[in-house]
Amino acid sequence: MTDDIHLRPYSRRSWAEPYKIKVVEPLKTTTRTEREQAIAFAGYNTFLLRSEDVYIDLLTDSGTSAMSDYQWAGMMLGDEAYAGSKNFYNLEKAVQNYYGYRYVVPTHQGRGAENILSQILIKPGDYIPGNMYFTTTRLHQELAGGTFVDVIIDEAHDPASLHPFKGNVDLRQLADLIEQVGAERIPYISIAATVNMAGGQPISMANLQAVRQIAQIHGIRIILDATRAVENAYFIQQREEKYFKQATASILREFCSYTDGCTMSGKKDALVNIGGWLSLNDPALYEEASNLVVIYEGLHTYGGMAGRDMEAMARGIEESVQDDHIRARVRQVEYLGTKLKDRDIPIVVPIGGHAVYLDAKTFFPHISQDHFPAQRLAAELYLEAGIRAMERGIVSAGRNKETGDHYYPNLELVRLTIPRRVYTQAHMDLTAEAVEDVYYNRDRLRGLKMIYEPKYLRFFQARFELL
Ligand SMILES: *Cc1c(COP(=O)(O)O)cnc(C)c1O
Repeated sequence: MTDDIHLRPYSRRSWAEPYKIKVVEPLKTTTRTEREQAIAFAGYNTFLLRSEDVYIDLLTDSGTSAMSDYQWAGMMLGDEAYAGSKNFYNLEKAVQNYYGYRYVVPTHQGRGAENILSQILIKPGDYIPGNMYFTTTRLHQELAGGTFVDVIIDEAHDPASLHPFKGNVDLRQLADLIEQVGAERIPYISIAATVNMAGGQPISMANLQAVRQIAQIHGIRIILDATRAVENAYFIQQREEKYFKQATASILREFCSYTDGCTMSGKKDALVNIGGWLSLNDPALYEEASNLVVIYEGLHTYGGMAGRDMEAMARGIEESVQDDHIRARVRQVEYLGTKLKDRDIPIVVPIGGHAVYLDAKTFFPHISQDHFPAQRLAAELYLEAGIRAMERGIVSAGRNKETGDHYYPNLELVRLTIPRRVYTQAHMDLTAEAVEDVYYNRDRLRGLKMIYEPKYLRFFQARFELL
């Protein structure tokens, strides 16, 4: 990783994949003319492309992982009973074992858990402090009447800062907010690990412990967004001296033990194509959650998932915390990031756990933020080589619900997200070459104009025209 980060001695070894390939899925290559048509038809929004027209799909690591033979075998053992499927109990056991929470409510994916949690805990007028917003998480908090308050450290907003834990909470800001609005207006502190919107940056164990102390003094809960907590645990092992010799699995358990529950998108760390859960330790809250889940997701022993999907997730959880898996996963991301850095392409550093983020503001200094530089760069990467990336900048940030103005985030990024166990080193090489080619031609590119804007989570469906 970067020079200032201490590496464990054995990690000088290559991260070579701890698996071999048994099934392959052919990819389609397209011509430049075909891609020009496809991206124009998609309104220059990579979410609106057909996956068939994509060569290397780095849109997201969500639900795009390759399952193991062990997981596929588990799919055949689906117990599709409406109530009390044995796969639910396997899932419950896996969550209890590896994450350490008492109660598990399955949901169809992460946002299902966020919806239920927000409805249970948030009252209109409440404030929810957190280490940077996430799109669906903040929206559910707002729909329940709450206001999200960003209390992440300043370094998180600086793509060039080499702070090893840019996901840390600014304890001063957190304490100030509690003082200002009062602990009774803060239903919980929302902790993300790793922080997606900051570039996949981890939060340290020491920082979470300090947040825990503050929370305890004021009787405030901490709810973890555990979506990429295994990746976070790996970074703690690599960067926090006390944990150098500990297994990722035991770091994960300790990490979760400082929180009172979690929402989880199983589509990321847990190596499945669909699924999620809500975990809680408080029996009264669990009761409310299992009541609400029947309205929005399904019975509390399936929550919108088939039995086979719960089995695949139970097995995926077990695989996800293995040190050889998580090391290869994070280091493949690092491999791509290092290639780009060596070519002087502006990326967010340190390189994150699930993605390499191109710094579109530095990449396109001549495109103003309201001409959507990151959106433009994502479209250009598709035109160049059929690579699909995602905007994480002004389009994703949306509008302030009071003033109606765009939020202007400091970070204007394009995310090259690496699915787990899917692409090879050669795919990473080709991606780096394509980014470099776009970089050399960047002066001749202009921004975009938004011609259609949906009301919620606009980045998914907004449409643009070339300026
Ligand atoms: C993906 C994601 C979610 C939402 O989960 P879904 O499964 O997509 O509904 C929440 N938080 C973070 C950090 C995520 O990356």
